[in-house]
Amino acid sequence: MDANASDPRPLTPVSEFASLLLAPNPGPMTLDGTNAYVLRAPDARGAIVVDPGPAIDEHLTRLADAGPVELILLTHHHLDHTAGAAEFAAMTDAPVRAIDAALCRGGGTPLIDGERIEAAGLELEILATPGHTADSMCVRLPSDGEHGSVLTGDTVLGRGSTIIVDPDGALGPYLDSLERLRALGSHGPVTVLPGHGPVLPDLAAICGEYLAHRADRLDQVRAALAQLGPDASAEAVTSAVYSDVDPALRGAAEASVRAQLTYLRDRA
Ligand SMILES: [Zn+2]
Repeated sequence: MDANASDPRPLTPVSEFASLLLAPNPGPMTLDGTNAYVLRAPDARGAIVVDPGPAIDEHLTRLADAGPVELILLTHHHLDHTAGAAEFAAMTDAPVRAIDAALCRGGGTPLIDGERIEAAGLELEILATPGHTADSMCVRLPSDGEHGSVLTGDTVLGRGSTIIVDPDGALGPYLDSLERLRALGSHGPVTVLPGHGPVLPDLAAICGEYLAHRADRLDQVRAALAQLGPDASAEAVTSAVYSDVDPALRGAAEASVRAQLTYLRDRA
């Protein structure tokens, strides 16, 4: 198939309750693009849309066609997840809810950790998972008979690793969030529905990998500080630890190092 064909990507079922529509915004920070999710029970008429994504008319129209949309949820404030939210809310007349009150509209109230939401024939549980950003949250879906699933936003990605941008993001809360998500998967595989990249089969396994990766990076930063001195700049530590980083991701790597330095210095 022609890679440049404008053939729209289909709304793809990824579990009994969730379908995925990939937004056409690929890039170094968004992987293949932002994953927008449509959630509904098999017999429900209405739908919940999580992260409508960028303000691209064709994408938003295709999402709205999956409706009627009862509720719009945002996993966090980053624009690749939220830039189209106001336009999408206007198209669907659905309220927008997020942890950050500034993102809520149409009568939607701020989400609270542990809150249960009933919509589109489903009962969802909101999990506040700060770390990638202060306002990051995950959505736990009911078990579909075999596996439960958790929609993870940018807290856990389908590929690569999440970037912690200091000071909105913070490593201490992020590690706590990963531990909490890992515990959800301790009774059997829980499907991961990430904000970018492919769906993954095992939440506990990927959280374990993320925690090990973070521990390795922290060891590397500690080693760099031992070489460069305890007050070394984030720039110098980044050059030591991420010597092979893609130039397009250098800024993100530096932000991640700043988050690690904050974490280590807070605990020194
Ligand atoms: Zn993000």
